Amino acid sequence: MNREDMLAGQVAIVTGASRGIGLAIARRLGQLGARVSLCARNAAHLEHAASDLRSAGIHALALPADVTRGDEITALVSQTQRTLGPIDILVNNAGIGIFGPFYEQSEADWNALLDTNLKSVFLASRAVAPEMIRRKTGHIINICSLAGKSTFANGAIYCASKWGLLGLSGCMAEELRAHGIRVSAVCPGSVATEFSPHAGKDPSKMLQADDVAHAVAALVTQAPGSFISEVQMRPTQKP
Ligand code: NDP
Repeated sequence: MNREDMLAGQVAIVTGASRGIGLAIARRLGQLGARVSLCARNAAHLEHAASDLRSAGIHALALPADVTRGDEITALVSQTQRTLGPIDILVNNAGIGIFGPFYEQSEADWNALLDTNLKSVFLASRAVAPEMIRRKTGHIINICSLAGKSTFANGAIYCASKWGLLGLSGCMAEELRAHGIRVSAVCPGSVATEFSPHAGKDPSKMLQADDVAHAVAALVTQAPGSFISEVQMRPTQKP
């Protein structure tokens, strides 16, 4: 099989795919032949991203959804299944960052961050798992962070969400592996996107969104007898 057709016939959902890492992942999976369903909250930005992919020959569907809402996730999954077919790959990428001393953060900050970065992964994975179990195949890729493996000042809620996400990912992997479903966590260091200013870092030396997309492509094209449960990513030069 041609390397560029490795995902031909497969369907992928990528959350948070209107820009940054999610868009790069959707493009890469599309280039490998997958039909991709993109979600984000801002419908206009999402449609713009999907039409860019379409003009590159990728079968891309734009479905606006807020991943913090169970009803919107259910609609995203069922609309994707109806339009593109059963879901082979779910990339839980949508995420936000709120940084600063924990004692200055509000309860609303905590809820927004935990709901977006952690609860959404439970909701989306729960929505695709039964059909994946029935079909005995599937990949769930959770975009975590090196912030899920370390601690730093001004990162309390963000780190808590990503530490939690690594725990969730590990348990999901154990529950699903016997069903032929492979769950992987990808933990990048700082990536040059609009996510945060990354003060003091040289963007040209940081990880790029395409680097993360490359790692995801490697995970979903792994031969079926094994899976890579966790990837840590760092740039070759310190930014
Ligand atoms: P960006 O801010 O560039 O993009 C975030 C994307 O998520 C956008 O498409 C945004 O669209 C979408 N999104 C945000 N909230 C929601 C929501 N509630 N429902 C649906 N979509 C949502 O971020 P990155 O691409 O940099 O980050 C992607 C992931 O990678 C995040 O999980 C982040 O934690 C992680 N990560 C990022 C690193 C970095 O340095 N950039 C490092 C390590 C991990 P919209 O606003 O329209 O909803």
